[in-house]
Amino acid sequence: MAHFDLFVIGGGSGGIACARRAAAYGAKVALAEAGRLGGTCVIRGCVPKKLMAYAARMADRMAVLPAYGFDLTPPPLDFRRLLENRNREVARLEGVYLTMLEKAGVHLFRGRARLDSDGRPPHGVVVGDQRHTADRVVVAVGARPVMLEVPGIEHAVTSDVLLEEIYDLPPRLVVVGAGYIGVELASIMAALGSRVWLVMRRELPLRGFDEELRLAVAEGLSALGVELVPDARLERIERVDDVRLVVTDRGTLEAEMVLMAAGRRPVPNTRGLGLVEAGVRLSLDGVVRVDVAYESNVPGIHAIGDCSDHAGHGLDAFQHDLTPVAIAEGRALAERFFHDNPEVVNYETIPTAVFGLPEAASVGLSEERARALGFEVVVYRTRFRPMLYTLPQLERYTTMKLVVDGDSDRVLGCHIVGDDAAEIIQGVAVAMTAGATKRQFDETVGLHPTAAEELVTLYNPMR
Ligand code: FAD
Ligand code: NDP
Repeated sequence: MAHFDLFVIGGGSGGIACARRAAAYGAKVALAEAGRLGGTCVIRGCVPKKLMAYAARMADRMAVLPAYGFDLTPPPLDFRRLLENRNREVARLEGVYLTMLEKAGVHLFRGRARLDSDGRPPHGVVVGDQRHTADRVVVAVGARPVMLEVPGIEHAVTSDVLLEEIYDLPPRLVVVGAGYIGVELASIMAALGSRVWLVMRRELPLRGFDEELRLAVAEGLSALGVELVPDARLERIERVDDVRLVVTDRGTLEAEMVLMAAGRRPVPNTRGLGLVEAGVRLSLDGVVRVDVAYESNVPGIHAIGDCSDHAGHGLDAFQHDLTPVAIAEGRALAERFFHDNPEVVNYETIPTAVFGLPEAASVGLSEERARALGFEVVVYRTRFRPMLYTLPQLERYTTMKLVVDGDSDRVLGCHIVGDDAAEIIQGVAVAMTAGATKRQFDETVGLHPTAAEELVTLYNPMR
């Protein structure tokens, strides 16, 4: 048994960031990880997804080659080689995280940890047959995919399985759920060669995003060949040999694979962790409620990242289960307790992107949200064909939109659908964090010829 200043449960984005920063300030830190170091983002999220998104983009780009003088028959995709290379890179990163923790002097425990506390510090943490104590425990156990409660759900896979275990490209894929994961993986797999249906329970994908962004994404998905099945309810899944019959109230689809992408919740990660026994308040979904110091109602027990409500923001806001947010929260917590720095994370201008085809990215308020908050909203919008697609005369478009406060002239939101949307939005987020006004956008000289220059030449309000 050992005593620590800080015991972090979970070696994902948030937990690792918190442990490293705390150790850098001289704290005695332990971290327990039940699975592979790096957590969702590195092992079965952002990283493997983005590597596949690159491959999908390359496949998609083949369409422009003839117009640029390359007479190339599209080469066949060796899907297995792509995934083997992807997995090698993921394993390399996993090793990098291990080295970083070792170098920082963090005590690493490999195994499932459980709190053993009556709610008074020091709190006990059990890993395997060892019990340790700590002044502060940080719960950073992440979330798990939601499996809808319908008959035959065991015939569906989650993104965890698709991104970590599968090696064969399914000829046909049904994706259920049209949020981040549904849109990204539906379009990536379609571009790589699967026939894909996207079953959505609403008319448009990406609820919570700006309506015009949602519309542009839906159009882009259809143009790519993803078959949208709107306003549909999944009723059951049946398996007949290698084929799955996906029965919805809008008809039955047949596919070799069904991907469940209906959200992620902290249950069961936070249940059975000893939190309830320690008196920690959890929501029905298992979300740990925390204050601005990421502290739960029990002194010394904290939560960050996907398993938390993000300092009270997460229950209301939809865009906070993101890697950079988990990292920022972990570091903020370490700063507060081991460096006397009470700075809090700025949740106002968190940029976010959906790395599908088309790519979509947002920062700040949607037009609808800005109106609901009572702003005098002025909207600037453009839709254009990027220069890349002029020679091949492809019907590919980029949409850019600025949501501006008519009273103060501040830019409240920016929404982009099209190539490089994610790369462009990061810079806009910096400007918005600095409080940029529409006038300052206009005063900025454009960079020609780019798509991004459109953001500084939006002279005429649309609404
Ligand atoms: P996690 O990274 O999930 O880490 C939690 C860790 O805790 C896991 O390693 C788990 O094994 C461990 N654990 C759980 N219980 C215990 C226990 N009892 N004892 C010990 N260890 C335990 N975000 C982005 O910003 N950009 C993206 O492009 C992006 N793409 C994504 C794609 C997919 C398919 C998914 C699923 C998510 C994606 N995300 C993306 C979200 C991002 O991955 C998460 O927001 C981020 O990983 C959250 O970090 P975390 O530290 O809260 O939890
Ligand atoms: P999301 O919350 O983004 O989307 C869930 C989808 O499932 C929504 O379309 C939702 O519909 C639908 N859904 C929920 N319940 C049901 C139901 N009972 N029947 C039918 N459909 C249902 O979750 P994801 O799983 O896509 O991703 C989880 C989180 O991971 C994201 O919120 C995001 O924070 C993170 N992530 C981030 C990425 C990035 O940064 N690029 C990429 C991937 C994940 P409705 O809208 O109607 O509720």
